[in-house]
Amino acid sequence: MSLTLSKKAQAVKPSSTLAITAKAKELKAQGKDVVGFGAGEPDFNTPDNICEAAVKAIHDGFTKYTPASGTNELKEAICKKLESFNHLHYEPNQIVISNGGKHSLTNIFSAILNPGDEVIIPGPYWLSYPEIVKLAGGTPVFVMSTKEDNYKVTADQIRKACTDKTKALVINTPSNPTGMLYSEEELRAIAQVAIEKDFYVVADEMYEYLTYGSEKHVSIASFGEDIYKRTITCSGLSKSYAMTGWRIGYTASSVEIAKLMGSVQSHQTSNPNSIAQKAALEALTGPQDTVETMKAEFNKRRKYMYERIQQMPYISALEPQGAFYVFVDVSEVLSKSYKGQKIEEVAQIGEILINEYNVAVVPCGDFGYPDHIRLSYAISIEQIEKGLDRIEAFLKELQ
Ligand code: GLU
Repeated sequence: MSLTLSKKAQAVKPSSTLAITAKAKELKAQGKDVVGFGAGEPDFNTPDNICEAAVKAIHDGFTKYTPASGTNELKEAICKKLESFNHLHYEPNQIVISNGGKHSLTNIFSAILNPGDEVIIPGPYWLSYPEIVKLAGGTPVFVMSTKEDNYKVTADQIRKACTDKTKALVINTPSNPTGMLYSEEELRAIAQVAIEKDFYVVADEMYEYLTYGSEKHVSIASFGEDIYKRTITCSGLSKSYAMTGWRIGYTASSVEIAKLMGSVQSHQTSNPNSIAQKAALEALTGPQDTVETMKAEFNKRRKYMYERIQQMPYISALEPQGAFYVFVDVSEVLSKSYKGQKIEEVAQIGEILINEYNVAVVPCGDFGYPDHIRLSYAISIEQIEKGLDRIEAFLKELQ
């Protein structure tokens, strides 16, 4: 007998993005004028038609269990969206609807991994991938990219990282935290490696609607049967429809994998919230103009933020093409001193900014890049302006 705790759970780091977001919200609640560049959370309210669908669901008594992997009507709506937007054909029995994107990823790795299986994660990566892989018994293998490569890994790098234990590769485009998009050519080369080496591709396309430049979002599963059957595409409603709190994510995969994920989910959580499923149905099938309005606003903020950062001393960034993040290189700041104290770690920058300048940013050590910070532009332009003024004031203090 022993009261020791799970080694697997103890090996997991808490989500620093959520911790920073919570801290910024708490300080705001205490009356502090905090600018929150931390949260990957749209500042817009969920559009009215979506909220109304949820209210109607409550009044109609749609408040009971649904099938564990989600309602058929929502699966059908997801299939239609996958067909028209992603050029992917799926039937409803290939779709599993879950409690947000993280839950979808948890299901995916639970369905495909055996102990010791390796999952290639290109860096910079969203901090939850390695933790979710570890929880499912897998081993993350990081393949890092550089700013010179636009923070994107190449097919050759992936090929070199393959071992006989490689089970899957995560491809996140548009990327959190870099805002970069993989081009069709780059994705085709990566798909070729997946086919050649025979591993799964976990395509996290959560930010698929949020692209701004000439580069368009492309789904890797759309390149033909060989890659389609190896890919599990995952997305959700949180970012495009300002529905972070509703927790609706989904996967599209082979029927076999969908069945496994459905079984796992049936024991772990049962169905995603019934009311949120009705809201998601309205989001996907109702008017889409709010998505465009939000996207246009993100685009304005993106341009403003990028231009301002270009003019600041010691920091630099690539112009983001998608999502709502700017990935800022702060390596020069790490050789400076602030008020006589040497700045040695990116976490110190985060601490100084929140404690002395009331600005929340995400230090990116947990994203694999300890000389970068992530700034979200999912906040109003006024807030962005104020927050950047403060960051600039901090930079001017450096010696
Ligand atoms: N995905 C968002 C972010 O990166 C929300 C927080 C989280 O889930 O980590 O900020």
